[in-house]
Amino acid sequence: MEPSSKETQVKTDEIWHLSQWLGISTWRNLLELPKTVRTHNPEILNLERSLRFTFVLPNPDSADRLTQVFVSEKTDFMSLCQFLPFLFEKHRLFICADSLIQQRILALSQDDIFKDDSQVTKTLSFLLEKAAQDNASDIHVESLAGTKQVRMRINGKLKQISLPDAIDDRLFTKIKLHSRMNIAQKRAPQDGHFPFISIHGKKYDLRVSTVPGINGEKIVLRLLPATSVQFSMTEMGFSDYHISVIRQCLHVKTGMILITGPTGSGKTTSLYAILKELQSESLNILTIEDPVEYRLNGITQVEVNNLAGISFSSALRSFLRQDPDVLLVGEIRDTETAQIAARAAQTGHLVLSTLHCNNVFEAIHRLKNLGVKGDDIATSLKLLVSQRLVPRTCTCGNNPDCQTCGGKGISGRIPILETLPISAVIKKKLSYEDSISDIEKVSFAEGFVPMREFGQKLVMKRMISASELDSILPDD
Ligand SMILES: [Zn+2]
Repeated sequence: MEPSSKETQVKTDEIWHLSQWLGISTWRNLLELPKTVRTHNPEILNLERSLRFTFVLPNPDSADRLTQVFVSEKTDFMSLCQFLPFLFEKHRLFICADSLIQQRILALSQDDIFKDDSQVTKTLSFLLEKAAQDNASDIHVESLAGTKQVRMRINGKLKQISLPDAIDDRLFTKIKLHSRMNIAQKRAPQDGHFPFISIHGKKYDLRVSTVPGINGEKIVLRLLPATSVQFSMTEMGFSDYHISVIRQCLHVKTGMILITGPTGSGKTTSLYAILKELQSESLNILTIEDPVEYRLNGITQVEVNNLAGISFSSALRSFLRQDPDVLLVGEIRDTETAQIAARAAQTGHLVLSTLHCNNVFEAIHRLKNLGVKGDDIATSLKLLVSQRLVPRTCTCGNNPDCQTCGGKGISGRIPILETLPISAVIKKKLSYEDSISDIEKVSFAEGFVPMREFGQKLVMKRMISASELDSILPDD
């Protein structure tokens, strides 16, 4: 059903908020709800004349007694929204509008209400549209001493964004409202999310997090494509050589494959590309992630939830009772998870995960630090991958009119990998607790190509620039 122009007109910002809160996709649904449940309380009936909306809450103690919450034109909408999450927690909320109220809603126009708020809405839409257009991965809205700034991470680098209008705390409040956060809470970190569809129809799930800074709050919005993952290792720019190494290791579905790299090196995305390779109805695939960044069909994805007692390790333990074939753990960062993951890999499962460290050899060191014995590493580990994302040089040669890079000379990022399959010799060295430098020597003898060397090949092919490679792999 297409909304009539009149209804489109009443889709004012506050109504949008309400529908978001209530999970109602269109305002029409709201109007089609049953008429207001009337009570015999005269005070309430009088009030109704000036109402826009009536919220009717079923009284939890009695089926026929209802609690009503009224919103008059004088109601401060911000405080109402603050109140709503509380109501949702306690009750099932109904919203009703009678014909009088409906008429009033239809008579509202965009300009009538919350003029100030519409400015903030414009700023937020501007930001989100710009981020979608520039393929930004994150938006940072920050409070500095006496001012606010917005930066976006585009091609891995933060860039300051100039806005058509000055921003103030209302933008923070607005983002927090959208994300279903407590807008009054400014002293503790919060997490939330909300959906966004760009004018070009790109769908996103925005992951929002706030931290209290000494100059005020900082909010980071991560743009995650809401569509299911389409990319493969080839589409992601993995070289044929690395793809063949990874495929060989995936052939037998046991053991542990770890992708390492610092934050923002694309570990998670690569993990999904590998998972996509495995996806098949003959395999039971379970993931535990923090948070779930991409949705994949046909697999069970679980999100870490500390309040509900779901951690990487507890989920992994439950997964082992779920007749699994493949297990994906978002990150191994504690001893318990490391040990369960290794055990799972030793007992006939394929375990995929990430480790936060700089290269494949450091990964061995890190596993040992996490309390996994050399022998257990030897019998569980199958492949180590380390990676970085380096800005890809556009093929246009810095043409200012280039459609792909907009004259900036950079189009997207390309993964630079190093892969270390655990050979029989390396396995032996691991179980004998030989030094990492010994393992390094053997690896090089077996043809190991470090990231830097691989990157230099791409520099020769003019796919990336030497300075970009140096800035991403600074030490050695
Ligand atoms: Zn170009």
